[in-house]
Amino acid sequence: MANDIDELVEMIQSARRTVAFTGAGVSTECGIPDFRSPGGFWTRYKPIEFNAYLASEETRLEAWRRYFMIYDAVSHATPGRGHQVIARLYHTGKVSHVITQNIDDLHRASGVPEAAIIELHGNGSYAKCLTCGERYELEWARAVIASESRPPYCRSCAGIVKTATISFGQPMPEEEMALARAATFNADLFLALGSSLQVFPAAGFPVMAKSNRARLVIINREPTGLDALADLVIAGEIGDVLTSVAERLWRQ
Ligand code: NAD
Repeated sequence: MANDIDELVEMIQSARRTVAFTGAGVSTECGIPDFRSPGGFWTRYKPIEFNAYLASEETRLEAWRRYFMIYDAVSHATPGRGHQVIARLYHTGKVSHVITQNIDDLHRASGVPEAAIIELHGNGSYAKCLTCGERYELEWARAVIASESRPPYCRSCAGIVKTATISFGQPMPEEEMALARAATFNADLFLALGSSLQVFPAAGFPVMAKSNRARLVIINREPTGLDALADLVIAGEIGDVLTSVAERLWRQ
């Protein structure tokens, strides 16, 4: 492991532009379970697909009920060691962008500016009208549901309001996909951290980076779908690995 950390530090030092690509594994040490680990509450129910959400008020009410159950359990989370090291890599000019599959807003909370964060699966800390895009706070939605016993509709255009996350079956956000492509094509080092690299199209970005001749490093506690493609695979805890990287990079 020590040799791997040295190799990663050397790669970061010699890279011109690094992209950090994160999955649920960067947030598990913050108390937010990842998607696939056994017993996680994300897997307790079959996910509600986007078309089903659109199709009935009853399904939307159920989706909101489940969402608030998860949100209330994890919304107190604060950034972990992984988020903090990534933020420092950004502020020292090493990392240009953070492309994340996470919806927990913890990269922003760790101090990475919004302009440098690309949220492929949206953001779970607020809601949006699916028709006009108007933003709504979650507590507003909660209050509407409690008082009217029906899911919220947009006050401007009467469109359906949904958490600002991307559900299964929902089209990927075009702007974020374009930003992520551009950041990936500009990178000569691509760090994939805490993602099983099984959810596409998000997992296509490490493949894209590699085919553009960037070096690919995967840090994950278990094998991922793309290990065979990587220049370096570090099997370990993200907080531990990135803390060691930070110690070597900045001699703390
Ligand atoms: P995933 O659950 O498929 O993969 C997470 C990976 O991280 C797993 O392979 C796991 O072994 C690894 N891991 C977990 N904790 C780790 C740690 N401390 N150190 C090293 N590795 C660790 O998640 P995914 O591939 O990111 O995709 C799941 C989807 O579910 C995401 O696209 C996201 O939209 C959503 N999700 C988001 C959050 C969040 O916002 N925090 C949490 C769960 C799921």
